[in-house]
Amino acid sequence: RSKNQGGNRITFFSNEMNDQAITRLELESYLRRALQKKEFYLMYQPLIDLETGEIFGSEALIRWNHPKLGLVSPADFIPLAEETGLIEEIGSWVLRTACMQNKKWQLLGYDSISVSVNVSAFQFQQPGFLKEVKRALNDSKLEPHYLTLELTESTMLKNVDYSIDTMKSLQNLGVKVSIDDFGTGYSSLSYLKNLPINTLKIDRSFINNLRVNTSDIAIVKAIITMGHGLAVKVLAEGVETKEQIELLKELKCHYAQGFYIHKPLLITDFEKGLKDKAVLEN
Ligand code: C2E
Ligand code: MG
Ligand code: MG
Ligand code: MG
Repeated sequence: RSKNQGGNRITFFSNEMNDQAITRLELESYLRRALQKKEFYLMYQPLIDLETGEIFGSEALIRWNHPKLGLVSPADFIPLAEETGLIEEIGSWVLRTACMQNKKWQLLGYDSISVSVNVSAFQFQQPGFLKEVKRALNDSKLEPHYLTLELTESTMLKNVDYSIDTMKSLQNLGVKVSIDDFGTGYSSLSYLKNLPINTLKIDRSFINNLRVNTSDIAIVKAIITMGHGLAVKVLAEGVETKEQIELLKELKCHYAQGFYIHKPLLITDFEKGLKDKAVLEN
């Protein structure tokens, strides 16, 4: 998305690279109808255990295919969905759809894996959020420990005490909690130890240029060491090279995700990945 031009126009570059200038209001009205018109779908990106090379989970990532705009990136519409409150309905749809898909894979006989769902700040801070999670689990019959919710540092910082309570309640249900894009926020290490979390996801900006003798490796190493110390799992996001995988294995990073391993996949392609579960040779 380019910078807003004068009259509050937002330019999208669709697949065909022809830019579409539309107003924020138009976009909002498109977004308002998108659920009903079934324009959303989820892609699933494999999450890999670096020790075994196997897929242990997936991250559900929303896609919006609009007839006029083409594919609109979540980076472009999630913020608008948050501002308008539309995220409540969209987020709820994502949660239910991801839980049902994961349960369906179990019923189809694939080895059970977890599913990670991104939760936006607005959605997380809604008083009905816990109930909504319970309902999604009940309706899908998915066992809670297969569900992971991804929160960002800024989501939790909005209202620290409330957030910690909600995270604890989620964990009491058996649901797991990850911190997404870790390292880009402002959470201080002193209260990280009090946060009820299962996984730290190292932001891909630290992984992108990960090579030996770079400052990134010092940071990544520190986060992994901290993870081991706090007994939380550490996942590296955005792994794009074999060298990065090798480094992360050396550093004893537990998990990884990235284009080098797999891009986000459509359901049928993900199923192929589940069939030959080991994607990395050891
Ligand atoms: P995220 O949760 O950090 O998700 C990871 C993003 O990194 C995804 O972008 C994924 O396609 C991308 N990615 C994965 N591996 C690589 C890699 O090796 N290289 C590069 N360059 N990118 C990689 P995507 O799907 O465009 O999503 C962007 C963001 O939008 C997500 O970041 C998340 O914050 C948000 N988002 C996506 N789906 C949802 C959703 O269902 N609900 C909410 N609230 N937010 C969502
Ligand atoms: Mg995420
Ligand atoms: Mg992330
Ligand atoms: Mg991100």
